[in-house]
Amino acid sequence: MPATSSPRPGAPSSDVRRSAADPWKLDLRELGRRAGSLREWDATLPAPAGWGVEMIGVPEGAPVQLHLRLESVMEGVLVSGQVDVPVAGQCARCLEPVTDALELDVQELYAYAGSTTEATSEEDEVRRVDGEHLDLGPLVRDAVVLALPLSPTCTPDCAGLCADCGERLDDLPADHSHEVIDPRWAGLAARLAAKTDSAEGPQPGSARTNPEEI
Ligand SMILES: [Zn+2]
Ligand SMILES: [Zn+2]
Repeated sequence: MPATSSPRPGAPSSDVRRSAADPWKLDLRELGRRAGSLREWDATLPAPAGWGVEMIGVPEGAPVQLHLRLESVMEGVLVSGQVDVPVAGQCARCLEPVTDALELDVQELYAYAGSTTEATSEEDEVRRVDGEHLDLGPLVRDAVVLALPLSPTCTPDCAGLCADCGERLDDLPADHSHEVIDPRWAGLAARLAAKTDSAEGPQPGSARTNPEEI
């Protein structure tokens, strides 16, 4: 087979040019600086690595769908719209795989170099237009990470794992239990049973209380 590969149909968008090195960096030259210039931009970009928290995140290379408006304003470029992003991880209770999709609204001003906004804000407060480029990656990453649950669950009421056998409780019958009593609790269980039998409370003869008794 010849190694020549033709570009996948519809893969590159000529509507807004992107940096070849990083598809998340938009070339702003076509938008222009005239305040009021507006461009609608729909694109699907691959997720970079590292968009996630401990138990859940965006798989690297997963398709992130962007439906954005880029609006040239006096101070910079206003980016707004919606981001659809697939996420995958693990249930924090039962460790089953979890997949989901987030729909996020974003709105952010990227300040022009030399603008009043740039002069009066810190770089970590307001994003910057980088030369002729606007880097959407950090904006979307921050929105995604903020929206990710710290304790994702496979279902809202996942019961987790049985503490005795480690099986998923949702996969087990409702009356699942273990007859074997942990030896550390066997004595206590016996005493509780004895107390229940004698409704009059402790008998004078049974005053040898276990020091471990609470
Ligand atoms: Zn679960
Ligand atoms: Zn069990």
